[in-house]
Amino acid sequence: MGAQEQLRWVHHVGKGAGMQIADILKSKGTTVVTIDAGRSVNEAIRRLNAHRIGAIVVTEGDGAVIGILTERDVLRECGERCTHLEAHLKGDGRVCPAEIRDVMTTDVVFGNPDDDVLVAMAVMTKNRIRHLPVLQAGRLAGIVSIGDLVNAHVQEAEFENRMMKDYIQGATY
Ligand code: AMP
Repeated sequence: MGAQEQLRWVHHVGKGAGMQIADILKSKGTTVVTIDAGRSVNEAIRRLNAHRIGAIVVTEGDGAVIGILTERDVLRECGERCTHLEAHLKGDGRVCPAEIRDVMTTDVVFGNPDDDVLVAMAVMTKNRIRHLPVLQAGRLAGIVSIGDLVNAHVQEAEFENRMMKDYIQGATY
């Protein structure tokens, strides 16, 4: 945990609260990779690979969020309908013809910057999802993965542990 994060943590402990999604976004940034619903699944796969991410937020027209597409959706499409891999093996140059809008999940679960990390983890566990786009005043304000949340939680627990040890050692001198 860097000095800035330690300060934020101390600030939160002072308020009696745990880390929030906003604290994670301050470190990782608020960039969200998006793609238009009318693009092909093939293009979404290329974008996921280029950015080394597992989920892409799907938008339409003026940028309104209308869905989310993750590795899981692509895998399901491949397993259930897509003949692209077979065609590829046979030397046929066809690419996956599916459009993102036919494969994405439309009922998007969003997080809020003020959500506690533990609450966000519970929401993701309950909904069996590993990605949580963050909305603030109706606009995309970032995205966190289950990995980001677990990492933040572990760092917070380690720092708390160190503070407790320092306190106990100080009290026994
Ligand atoms: P994931 O575990 O994030 O790869 O996603 C598993 C399934 O849940 C996929 O069908 C995703 O489209 C869907 N999914 C992932 N994140 C969300 C989210 N925030 N809201 C709604 N569905 C989601």
